[in-house]
Amino acid sequence: MISRIGLLLIASIALGSCGDDSVERPRLSSQKTIGSSLGVLSTKAAKQLFGAKAQPSEQNSAPFGGYAKGCLAGGVQLPETGPTWQAMRLSRNRNWGHPELIDYVKKLSRFAATQPGWDGLYVGDLSQPRGGPMLTGHRSHQIGLDADIWLRPANDLNLSRTQRENISSISLRRAKGAYTNDNWTQQHFEILRKAAKDPRVARIFIFPGAKVKMCGMETDDRRWLNKIRPWWGHHYHFHVRLTCPDGMAGCVNQPAPPKGDGCADAEEWVRNILNPPPPDPNPKPQTPRRELQMADLPSQCAAVLQSR
Ligand SMILES: [Zn+2]
Repeated sequence: MISRIGLLLIASIALGSCGDDSVERPRLSSQKTIGSSLGVLSTKAAKQLFGAKAQPSEQNSAPFGGYAKGCLAGGVQLPETGPTWQAMRLSRNRNWGHPELIDYVKKLSRFAATQPGWDGLYVGDLSQPRGGPMLTGHRSHQIGLDADIWLRPANDLNLSRTQRENISSISLRRAKGAYTNDNWTQQHFEILRKAAKDPRVARIFIFPGAKVKMCGMETDDRRWLNKIRPWWGHHYHFHVRLTCPDGMAGCVNQPAPPKGDGCADAEEWVRNILNPPPPDPNPKPQTPRRELQMADLPSQCAAVLQSR
């Protein structure tokens, strides 16, 4: 029988994770000029090609492929500063998404601004201008439908570019994610509940202790808790994933989460953090993950890359 931890590890490999991106610094690497022929494209890792594109494609907006294996046509930029948000780590140029994601982030930030101590949201990585794999950080965030939202209350929306490179988010966890710490507030609960109740949302990833906390705080309709998925990391930010927008035939949804509020599973995860089960005496050998090549991505992604 596969242990719970084993299942979670498999899930981790299948879904990918964005890790503690809110504190990670971008890697500055020189990028060679991109060849225009498909022959040249096919020899390079896809992350080199998509990571070198500073502008979106001049195409209609469309996600192609899945969250961890795809690209984004016609990416739209979240403005660096708005009435109720600031995009962080601007040097990464990852404040791009499908129009539904940009609309979602703006709308959620307006709600956040109604919360005591919050003027809106600090927004972490969305996607690159043309989506696709990245040189650093994420496995997902490839099709313009994922967004990292900082857990640090946005109480100053006049941060300079330099400040937005250097300021850190705050961690909300203690005991390796089994519990929330003193930084957790009612406002976090309100913002996460609002975030999850938007019908466009497929999943929200946050550390297990936060999920259990919210399970305990909700006294009314619990259906939204289904979308709150416990995950590694995700204690400096939460990660919102939208479902494929209507009519986007090339976009691949993940299977829906299991039915129910998921609270018992989160409690089990917490118990396993506090009392780790013995390691598997016969662990499967880990095969190193191969870099995604253009041939691994949907065929439309070559056009996205090469479009004006
Ligand atoms: Zn993320």
